[in-house]
Amino acid sequence: MEECLFCKIIKGEIPSTKIYEDENVYAFKDIEPVAPVHILVVPKKHISSLNEIKEEDEILIGKIHIAITKIAKELGIDKDGYRVINNCGKDAGQTVMHLHFHIVAGVNMGEKLI
Ligand code: 5GP
Ligand code: ZN
Repeated sequence: MEECLFCKIIKGEIPSTKIYEDENVYAFKDIEPVAPVHILVVPKKHISSLNEIKEEDEILIGKIHIAITKIAKELGIDKDGYRVINNCGKDAGQTVMHLHFHIVAGVNMGEKLI
């Protein structure tokens, strides 16, 4: 069993502000928000990055995105919109090696990606 930071958060060994949870997915507030809404959505299964997903993870990746839409509706950000970000690897700035998707919202981010 992996013992990375987000695995510990999923298991409740490190506290987090839970936003959503189901059988496969856990979502919590980012500790250093970059926008009024900044949520991290992670699979409960340890996968270190998008580089490491396998064919067998196909349904899980879909479930993560279904969870994202549920969270967006629950938080009421679905109308104005939100950005979903996955940082994969060094150049993208990935700092925690457990696959996660950022939901960022509550501010107009404009058209530029970076
Ligand atoms: P990355 O840069 O890997 O895409 O994103 C990692 C994110 O995890 C960062 O936005 C960072 O603020 C967040 N983070 C790091 N440590 C913790 C923590 O202990 N708790 C929470 N809630 N977020 C964390
Ligand atoms: Zn992990």
